[in-house]
Amino acid sequence: MANEHLIDDCIFCKIIRGEIPSHKIAETDKAYAFLDINPISEGHVLVIPKYHGEFFHQIPDDYLVDILPLARKVALASGLDEGQYNLLQNNGPMAHQVVPHVHFHIIPKPNKEEGLIVGWPMKTANQDSLKGTLTRIKEKL
Ligand code: 5GP
Ligand code: ZN
Repeated sequence: MANEHLIDDCIFCKIIRGEIPSHKIAETDKAYAFLDINPISEGHVLVIPKYHGEFFHQIPDDYLVDILPLARKVALASGLDEGQYNLLQNNGPMAHQVVPHVHFHIIPKPNKEEGLIVGWPMKTANQDSLKGTLTRIKEKL
């Protein structure tokens, strides 16, 4: 497929086009999987759409549908069915996104010390607030 949805000034678009090198694992017409250059743990992989967009919601469905099967294939090939791992996708700088081209991280969690460390500031919510949230989302669905 032609790369008509890539842009010039993006590091991941350049990787897809082969203009800068990467450790490519596999690709489809619409997705590309490669090793993260600064891995959080050994085997840290990025899976990206061949469509430039900063945020998850900007990527069309026909590109998104290639991502998870490719991520699953890579997870299995990496032996992660025998271990633990996180599948992570950050949107926006506050949410820890650094590269503004959508990417899904596959991050092996070999032990407590290595891999992703996540803060999880869980709160209790009452039924009214959960119902309010549900209504707000479903109204626009
Ligand atoms: P983010 O914080 O945006 O979710 O993650 C960006 C990821 O891209 C980081 O894990 C970083 O190591 C990786 N990365 C940034 N630049 C490059 C690059 O040029 N090549 C590769 N393979 N990974 C990169
Ligand atoms: Zn891009």
